[in-house]
Amino acid sequence: MARPCIGMSVSSEPPDPARALFRNKTLQYLEQGMILAVARAGGLPLLLPDLKDEALAPRVLGQCDGLLLSGGSDIAPVTYGEEPRREDWAGDRPRDLYELALLHAALARAMPVLGVCRGMQLINVAFGGTLWQDLAAEVQGALPHRDQDLYDTLAHEIRIDRESVLGRILGASSRTVNSVHHQGVRELAPGLRATARAPDGIIEAVEATEQKSFLLGVQWHPEWGEDGASDAVLGAFVAACVERRERR
Ligand code: MN
Repeated sequence: MARPCIGMSVSSEPPDPARALFRNKTLQYLEQGMILAVARAGGLPLLLPDLKDEALAPRVLGQCDGLLLSGGSDIAPVTYGEEPRREDWAGDRPRDLYELALLHAALARAMPVLGVCRGMQLINVAFGGTLWQDLAAEVQGALPHRDQDLYDTLAHEIRIDRESVLGRILGASSRTVNSVHHQGVRELAPGLRATARAPDGIIEAVEATEQKSFLLGVQWHPEWGEDGASDAVLGAFVAACVERRERR
């Protein structure tokens, strides 16, 4: 069977004089784990560059069967109508604009979308929701959702709504997932529902209330998981992309 083409958004890194290579250049890149996980799940990964032109987003997505919004830098508070409450929480506005254009183009084409970490938060913001700028500082009683030393080995439980797309994919009402984020969904956007939460109530998964096409966001990193739940999420996304490819 032909592999569906999965368009993946990329990260940007500004010029950095401390870097050995390309020190005064902006980089666009994606962490390898995500790329290989999509290939393992049966997709053909295609990195979508930020062309700094929102009008080109629909074109660059043109040959894809699905969109994966990857993890990375913070969403800029201005993107959901707030000022950053700390200077270092200003976020990555250029990336927001690039990924919002991709997401709108994908939704207009009823293309399956999976948002991972930042990608889940971007889906919420695109639909009109807001974020906590920093969970540890702003949510009393929040569990640790990020630890620079533990990084991808930090984990917590999630409780899953069995009557949801995610619940059907995972076939369980709880899981342990990795947790590497310091922002989180504050106001859930209209048109979305929370289908998994951490024990402290923080939203760990969202999906469209009306699934016109596959639209799922997860706060954890399925590409780093070793528990089978992770591959199930990527597998379901790739399966939705196969289906769309066959309908085209
Ligand atoms: Mn978490």
